[in-house]
Amino acid sequence: MSADPDCLFCKIIAGEIPGDFVHRGERTVAFRDINPQAPVHILVVPRGHQPNAAATAADDAAAFADIAATARAVAAAEGYDDYRLVFNTGAGAGQTVFHTHGHVLAGRSMDEHLA
Ligand code: C5P
Repeated sequence: MSADPDCLFCKIIAGEIPGDFVHRGERTVAFRDINPQAPVHILVVPRGHQPNAAATAADDAAAFADIAATARAVAAAEGYDDYRLVFNTGAGAGQTVFHTHGHVLAGRSMDEHLA
């Protein structure tokens, strides 16, 4: 699986930068967001480096199934069957770390707005 030496999330996956991991799997990891936007805010990250969800969809569609399964598992482990899974894709959509990741958000009302 590819890694980018300049990528923050590749460094977290490699253990070069600390992460508060809740899951370490063969193809995905999950760790708590350092700036949580909900009581549960976990990032689900494929181990293989792709810059964003669009690239993952094009190059490794199976990774989306892994991300979705990991998201369900980490939300359930936190006690939530209801959760939001968000992929900011591209700088214009608010993406700031250019390694594909899904935000798992739970524990607050999500019906007021999509943001
Ligand atoms: O979708 P976006 O690229 O904006 O999300 C990146 C997320 O990574 C942010 O929510 C930010 O708080 C999180 N982050 C983190 N640990 C870091 C750097 C960023 O959890 N060391």
